Amino acid sequence: MIDEGYIKFNCMWKKARALPAKALREITKWRNWLHELGFIGVYPDGIGFGNVSIRIPNTTQFIITGTQTGGIAKLAAKHYTKVTSGNFEQNALQCEGPVEASSESLTHLAVYQADKNIHAIIHTHHPKLWKKLLDKVPTTFPSVAYGTPEMAHEIFRLFKETDLAKQKILVMAGHEDGLITFGCNLDQAGEALLKIDNK
Ligand SMILES: [Zn+2]
Repeated sequence: MIDEGYIKFNCMWKKARALPAKALREITKWRNWLHELGFIGVYPDGIGFGNVSIRIPNTTQFIITGTQTGGIAKLAAKHYTKVTSGNFEQNALQCEGPVEASSESLTHLAVYQADKNIHAIIHTHHPKLWKKLLDKVPTTFPSVAYGTPEMAHEIFRLFKETDLAKQKILVMAGHEDGLITFGCNLDQAGEALLKIDNK
């Protein structure tokens, strides 16, 4: 499911060493579990989906699973990268690590910028939950595609106009199957997802 943006995504990737294993322990635990549960994976056409990130405290930088890692069951340190900055209008992102960040990282950046209390984000693709939650929880406009400057604006709008900060879950109407949950840590972001799945 690739949504074509109007402005081509520009990832300025600085190849760098893997992050220390200690910094990745918790994110790897959650990410591998979400993969096991089918919230992260790969479509029959070979395109991976789903990603997880954690904020680097007191910054808007974050660590995120690398592009096209959705199909890998168990991630290693080489599968993560650090997003250091981004520019929504230019659809540009800077990252440092052994792997490139995906265009979806810009949406993570928007969420971190919107609320400083958020320290972890999960983006999954789940057809059943997507259909069930569409317009029932804060939902981005259907005309807004993933990886566009408009998606970042939509995220900011939802934080302003809805109780998204409390609900901790949003649906992307214009990004089929796409959901985002978040929290002050990975446990809270994961619970926001699993709680709704079990309802
Ligand atoms: Zn997605």
